[in-house]
Amino acid sequence: MTAVNLPASDPARDPAAPITSKPRTLAHQKAKGLKPGSPKPAKERCSECGLCDTHYIAYVKEACAFLNQQFDGLETASHGRPRDLENDRELYFGVHQEMFAARNTQPIEGAQWTGIVSLLACEMLERGLVEGVICVQNSPTDRFGPMPIVARTPAEVLAAKVNKPTLSPNLSVLEQIEQAGMKRVLAIGVGCQIQALRAVQHEIGLEKLYVLGMPCVDNVDRAGLQKFLETTSRSPETVVHYEFMQDFRVHFRHEDGSIELVPFFGLNTKELKDVFAPSCMSCFDYTNGLADLVVGYMGAPFQWQWIVVRNETGAEMLDLIRDRLETQPVSSSGDRKQAVQQSIPAYDQGVTLPMWAARLMGVFIERFGPKGLEYARFSIDSHFTRNYLYTRRNHPETLEDHVPEFAKKIVSQYQLPKS
Ligand SMILES: Cc1cc2nc3c(=O)[nH]c(=O)nc-3n(C[C@H](O)[C@H](O)[C@H](O)COP(=O)(O)OP(=O)(O)OC[C@H]3O[C@@H](n4cnc5c(N)ncnc54)[C@H](O)[C@@H]3O)c2cc1C
Ligand code: SF4
Ligand code: SF4
Repeated sequence: MTAVNLPASDPARDPAAPITSKPRTLAHQKAKGLKPGSPKPAKERCSECGLCDTHYIAYVKEACAFLNQQFDGLETASHGRPRDLENDRELYFGVHQEMFAARNTQPIEGAQWTGIVSLLACEMLERGLVEGVICVQNSPTDRFGPMPIVARTPAEVLAAKVNKPTLSPNLSVLEQIEQAGMKRVLAIGVGCQIQALRAVQHEIGLEKLYVLGMPCVDNVDRAGLQKFLETTSRSPETVVHYEFMQDFRVHFRHEDGSIELVPFFGLNTKELKDVFAPSCMSCFDYTNGLADLVVGYMGAPFQWQWIVVRNETGAEMLDLIRDRLETQPVSSSGDRKQAVQQSIPAYDQGVTLPMWAARLMGVFIERFGPKGLEYARFSIDSHFTRNYLYTRRNHPETLEDHVPEFAKKIVSQYQLPKS
């Protein structure tokens, strides 16, 4: 089991030391969250994870993923050890005991994929394993506007299904958990939110925290999302759902149920270059390395979800719904390296292919390109090299400390531009 009462980063602490419970410091009780719109401690690199909206801002210097990279220590605290950099699967996908592809045998209508995340969260509430679930619904006035909540019923969890493809302050509800006196909680979130949560989890007064993570990359703020939709979709106002898929196309689902496909290689890279949030251009936690259980799609065959069980808590969670899943082993084929190397200068120069050439390229790469885990490595390599360059160019003084060792090792396989 993952220990609770995990210590926040302490520079004096040996990250490999076993985790023991640490008394709560309660330093947060006198602190106050920032007012909406106030500048955040991580400045432009803030991913709006929500921590600074609460009194847990007291720990921001240690907890914020953009102010204090502490991957090894938090992996050790969460899983009992840091990832093994000599093991290729761990280097890329983090500490894990099991990995496979799965589908919910009774897909949840309107979920992002087959609704494995919502299914599990509902099950945990129904069985009384947790009293609340941190998740994010839509704001009533904006279908893509995030509205984090602590769900107490399956109906509230189901109302949070489907991605809100924007930065979301999920941790802004942390104070509610402490005030409600909750002791057992499930948190659903993406990497930057989970890094901050892991660093403060011993301060919330919980007996047990379960963490269900999703991979995440290339997120945007609400204005960036609008620009992306307007630049890329034929009908931005009717998009209800989109995903960058393993077939190298963006799949937009519209209100009338129609699907629009846009090849990655046809994206207007020049226009879109500054659309991704600076936080996401500086992020190296694509596969949510600190969650107990990860549910995504990147390492699975097209139209399957990808499940990564990181520790005993993750296995305990998955066991609740195993019999509701159709599964198959993960596989891997193709060779990503050349495509990644070529994408580095192409992205830098904002190369955009005409649509006919992009479609042709998409068809070719779908047939002969990397698949399964190799597709996931392709995506990780492309984003890590891009984000490494972004950090080197825009925040050179933080490069050494901010980039985790696993990401440095991945990036070192490629030749980067000198400046
Ligand atoms: C912003 C974002 C980017 C992603 N990028 C990738 C990727 O590049 N590769 C990959 O393999 N998988 C990615 N995923 C995960 C994937 O898209 C699915 O969310 C995952 O497979 C679960 O699908 P589902 O049908 O089980 O989820 P559902 O049952 O539909 O549940 C979705 C859950 O996501 C939560 N959520 C929605 N929006 C946010 C948000 N902005 N921040 C935090 N939590 C949120 C909701 O609370 C809900 O509980 C991403 C997810 C998000 C939210
Ligand atoms: S990313 Fe989160 S912890 Fe860091 S400054 Fe922003 S709100 Fe605060
Ligand atoms: S890409 Fe990274 S920083 Fe951006 S929202 Fe996702 S996990 Fe957070």
